[in-house]
This record gives sequence, C-alpha cells and structure tokens, in this order.
Amino acid sequence: MAERTLCIIKPDAVERNLTGAVLKMVQESGLKVVGIKMLQMSEQQAGGFYAVHKARPFFEDLCRFMCSGPIVVAVLEADNAVKRYRDLMGATNPANAAEGTIRKAYAQNIERNSVHGSDSLENAAIEIAYFFSNLELVG
Ligand code: UDP
Repeated sequence: MAERTLCIIKPDAVERNLTGAVLKMVQESGLKVVGIKMLQMSEQQAGGFYAVHKARPFFEDLCRFMCSGPIVVAVLEADNAVKRYRDLMGATNPANAAEGTIRKAYAQNIERNSVHGSDSLENAAIEIAYFFSNLELVG
C-alpha cells in the first residue's frame, strides 16, 4: 500500500552541499518526492518537532543543532515508504550504519547524522502535517 513519510535533510548535510546527493539516493531507491522545501527552524519549532524526545539527555543539543542552519524537508511516497526510507537511512549512529545507507555515506556522528525519517506511519502523518499543508503536496 502506498505510504507517505517525512524526510529531513539535516543542517550538517545541507551545509556540506549534500542535498542533491541525498535526494539522488532517495530517488534512486524508488521513493518519490511529492513535496519539498528549505527552511530554518527556530529553537521552539525544533523543540516542538522533537517533543517525544524531551526527557532524553540529548534533547537540548539536538534542538540547537536542528535549528543551527537550513534544513530541507521532503515528503516521500512509495509502497511501504516508512520502512523503505528507514532502511535507506541506516542506523542512528553512523558507526553502526550498513554499507549503502545515507548515514554510512554522509553522517558525521550520532547527532550530526544527516537525515531524519519518520519511525511509523502514525508519526509520519503527524510530522508531515508539522511542515506541509495539503496544498503543498502533489498527487
Ligand atoms: N541523537 C543524539 N544522540 C543520541 C541519540 C540520538 O544526538 O544518543 C539525535 C540524532 O540526531 C537522532 C535524533 O536524535 O537522529 C533522534 O533520535 P532517534 O533515536 O529517534 O534516532 P533516529 O530515528 O533519527 O535514527
């Protein structure tokens, strides 16, 4: 069944001019981009996005990092998109990421790990709505 998931190209990757390289891996894997834009979050907006991680020790650093520069947010569509994109991203810590994954290729460390992807279909719907209105999505 066709699903939609949220992809974020994080500040470390945008800053190193890796947006095109990441999108190439995404598109070559068969995930279709149905919405995309560049923006810079405020610390408050980053905190809202990562609210589920509020109690975690890395929360404040993560929010500071995520609003430290521009990001690219995209909505990806495909059969089984949530899992397919998670597999393509690779493990959170690039030291554990498999060959052929985005994080293996580009992540700098466990925080500056180049990409975000929704972890469930339910969260994907919430995360997509955080950044996009229906008018901004095609198909
Ligand atoms: N993160 C971090 N330190 C950690 C774990 C996670 O800085 O020990 C950051 C990292 O950028 C990660 C994000 O917090 O991508 C969200 O963590 P999660 O466990 O949800 O990993 P993901 O789903 O992104 O692989």
